[in-house]
Parts: sequence; C-alpha cells; structure tokens
Amino acid sequence: MDTPDAPALFELPARVDAALSMPEPAADHRIRVIGHAVAWRVLARLGRDGHVGQPVLIVGPAGVGKRTLAGALAQLLVCVADADDRPCGRCRACRLVANGGHPDVVTTPAPLRIDAARALQSGLSLSPVEGRVRVTVLPDVDLASSGAANSLLKTLEEPPPHAVLILTAVQEANVLPTIRSRCRRVDIKPLPPAEAAAALTEHHGVPADRADLLARLSGGALGRALAWLDADEAALADRTAWLDRLFTLVDADRAGRLAVAAQVARARSGLAEGIAHWLGSFRDVLLLQHGLNEPVTNRDRLTDLHRLAASLTPAQAANGARATETALGQLAAHANPQLVLDVLTLALPAPQR
Ligand SMILES: [Zn+2]
Repeated sequence: MDTPDAPALFELPARVDAALSMPEPAADHRIRVIGHAVAWRVLARLGRDGHVGQPVLIVGPAGVGKRTLAGALAQLLVCVADADDRPCGRCRACRLVANGGHPDVVTTPAPLRIDAARALQSGLSLSPVEGRVRVTVLPDVDLASSGAANSLLKTLEEPPPHAVLILTAVQEANVLPTIRSRCRRVDIKPLPPAEAAAALTEHHGVPADRADLLARLSGGALGRALAWLDADEAALADRTAWLDRLFTLVDADRAGRLAVAAQVARARSGLAEGIAHWLGSFRDVLLLQHGLNEPVTNRDRLTDLHRLAASLTPAQAANGARATETALGQLAAHANPQLVLDVLTLALPAPQR
C-alpha cells in the first residue's frame, strides 16, 4: 500500500465511493497537505487501521504545517469510508473535521493550561459520539505550563483505548522527556522556497513575484507565508520601514544612530521582528559577498543589499549579524529595550570609504 514516489495522499485523485447514492460527486473536504510527503506517509500508515496505537508528537518550526497534518490525520481516523479510501473528503465526518465541528475531534487551546489539561483527562474517558475514536489535538505542547505538562503526562500514561492524542511542538527540547518518550515522533521541515512559492501561487492565487518573496521571508513555512498575506500590507510596510532604517543607519554618525535607537525603542511592539529583519539583511549581505544570489531572502531590496555588500568587509557583515543576534537574545531575556537598541545601533558596522 506504500507508494514511495507519490506526493502527499491528498494530491491523489479521489475515489467517489458514494457515487451510487448521489446524483453528483459531493465537494472534496479533504484537508490539503502540501509537501511533507514522508511525514504524511508515516502518519497515514499509523492511522490505517483507524487508530494510531500511541500518542503522536509532530515536531517542526512555527507555521510549517503541523496542525494541518494533525487535522488530516484526524480526518483519516474518523472517516467512515472504506479503509483504502480514507480520508474520503466526502463523508459527513470528513466534512465536519474540515469545518472544525466534529464532536469526536477537539483541539485544546495553546498554550495548554492546567485547567484545560485536567478537563482533557476527564473528557477522554467519555466514549466517542459518532465513531470509533476520540481525537484530541494538543498544539504547541512545548509552551505548556509545568502543571499542565505534568497533568498531560498522567493522561499519556493510561489513555483510554478509544483516545487518540496528537501533540505538536516547535522546540522539542522544551517538552518533558517523559512526555516525549511516550509519543511516536514525526518531524516536519519547511518546504524548499521554490515549492512554497509554487504552492502560494497555485492554491492561494498569489502573484509569482510576491509568492517568491513571501516564501523566502517565511523560510518555507507556508503558514507563516499565509500569515504575512493575511496581515495585509501592514506587516510588509513595517518590514520595509525597518530595512530603510538599517540602510540609513549604517551611514549615520553616532548621534544619528542613537536618534534611530530612541525612535524605535519608543515603539516597543514589533522590536524583535524588526531586528530580525536586520539580522536577515546581514545574512543576505554575507551571501552576496560570497557570490550567492539565489538564497537571498530580501530579494526586493537587492540594490541596497549589493551596496552594503560592496562597502562592508565580510568580517564587518558577520559582526553586524552577531550584534543583531545578541540584541534579539537580550530582548528575549527582557532587557531594557532602549539600552539594547543603543548598544546595537552603535555596534553596527560603518561602511569603509
Ligand atoms: Zn470521509
């Protein structure tokens, strides 16, 4: 039944199993998994018999498609079609899962808190309402409070036979080892940017140029690319402003740099995102200095990046990247934003003339 070269199962033509009772094929409600063929094959094989045996932990970066895979597996498990046709995308169960309304498929809020973890423990003992199993999706268990994680551990120790638990995490190291050891782990990785861009164009009608930029900015995580798209022009305009600041700042003197620092530190929100754009720019500069055009992220700013690449030494560009990384670490540790920005702007390299 395993087809090594096939794309994700959802890309295969659907069989219309209920054709006899329906005048026309019903709409296809299968949750579409784009890419992740290997991970999906593993999950589909696990769920082939209508159960997965042990809890599943899907690990991968934010926005990469972990919940989509969890949803597709939930559909596979509750679908009422013949085993070979699951998930059919046409039965009532498939439709309800796709719409988030299946009574036996629930998703816990993230981050998981202790009350939700306790409610889960008591809820799981209930029998399934419609089908064979009760599926609980627990997103981002790496963010769960320690109380919630310990309560979850108890649930994982003795789940009722009809319970299927699908956990997801970004930072696997932040999941209790005792939770990890009880789960079947499935890794997923971002799509290659070209594949992500093609998917944005094909499935979301994004023009090719923009799809290419979004795919690169999101690092191949389709969910993040779609978030950029949903955030409308605002997020992209914000990014443009941060890149403009950087390209101005490197030419500015000490007073000019501190003025920029004071201006952005006052804004407070979006500081880390903005500085992450600076980090991305220094990485781009390093790539250009090594003659690598293709992997550059901020492709719409190639002229500015080339200028910077020509006026900085590779050591200076590397120092810029390190200084921004340090600043991101300090912000994450709740350092004073004004101080972080002052130190960062003064540490950024100045072009050689
Ligand atoms: Zn179905």
